[in-house]
Amino acid sequence: MKIAILPGDGIGPEIVEQAVNVLNRLGESFEMESAPVGGAGYAAHGHPLPEATLKLAQDADAILFGAVGDWKYDTLERALRPEQAILGLRKNLNLFANLRPAILYPELAGASTLKPEVVSGLDILLVRELTGDIYFGQPRGVRIAPDGPFKGQREGFDTMRYAEGEIRRIAHVAFQAAQKRSKRLTSVDKANVLETFQFWKEIVTDVHKEYPDVELDHMYVDNAAMQLVKAPKRFDVVVTGNMFGDILSDQAAMLTGSIGMLPSASLDANNKGLYEPSHGSAPDIAGKGIANPLATILSAAMMLRYSLNKAEQADRIEAAVKKVLAQGLRTADIYEAGTTKVGTKEMGEAVVAALG
Ligand code: NAD
Repeated sequence: MKIAILPGDGIGPEIVEQAVNVLNRLGESFEMESAPVGGAGYAAHGHPLPEATLKLAQDADAILFGAVGDWKYDTLERALRPEQAILGLRKNLNLFANLRPAILYPELAGASTLKPEVVSGLDILLVRELTGDIYFGQPRGVRIAPDGPFKGQREGFDTMRYAEGEIRRIAHVAFQAAQKRSKRLTSVDKANVLETFQFWKEIVTDVHKEYPDVELDHMYVDNAAMQLVKAPKRFDVVVTGNMFGDILSDQAAMLTGSIGMLPSASLDANNKGLYEPSHGSAPDIAGKGIANPLATILSAAMMLRYSLNKAEQADRIEAAVKKVLAQGLRTADIYEAGTTKVGTKEMGEAVVAALG
């Protein structure tokens, strides 16, 4: 099995190194090959997603990705900015389904900004559509306003759109995920204001007919944002579009205390996937050896489960992570008085040791 390793920028290389060490310890014969991506891709080959990197990702069975983005590339034109690499990979590999679990480990209950009774035991799966919506819709740009009260002025505009097939395929992923959990699915939309999301609601309701064992409810995105902090445990699986999912998944991440704990999977129709931590490249702490590698290590576990058919190995990694948390080891982002503060490398080594 071939795994493409794309460390990227900022803390990416530090945290991916730890996840690779964990994979190497499993005793499997994975073929792993690295390539530069993001700012590192631009520095090496003049493009955030160099051709050779894309080819490696296309040929691999799964991709382990760190993060991209660096302030030093902020002045580049948009097409050459590091973040375009991740959009390019999603589009080229047709990774339309983003799965983001938000789990609050009991040991970290105090790390959440919400009261422990509101969040303890939290276990949500957010399913975000990843290749459509206003992020990809055309036309877009800056033009002279053709009408309205500001006619004649410059205006920025984007296009929100979803095709029926796009909604159907993400709805199937979400219903099937719900079937494997508590059989409850919440579809988040803005059907009261947006045509696109009125259509979304209609199609999700239609797909529901194929999953009568799953209980479906619909919620407007503003209410969902409120409920996520008021009563997050009311949710189990949540499905939504690209933009709403982008925002809600970071909000859900913070319920658990640190974005440094949260893995994610982006899958195509055949379960080939790109696995990455939910956070970015954290340039503010890059190179300091203090980043939390657990989200990336847990992403490697998701990779074993969803793309490489190695659920037992995934369980081993997740158990090892729980063990190091129970031992009281914490990186700075999840540190609390009475626990032991460790760096990126020490945390990675502790997980490797906990694998036995
Ligand atoms: P970020 O997630 O990189 O950082 C937000 C905050 O969380 C920072 O204070 C950071 O230090 C902290 N943090 C993030 N990951 C951490 C970890 N593993 N351990 C400890 N602390 C951690 O978001 P940002 O600052 O908005 O963006 C930084 C760069 O990352 C930007 O260039 C952005 O475009 C990019 N980005 C990339 C991705 C991706 O590669 N998929 C996703 C989001 C943002």
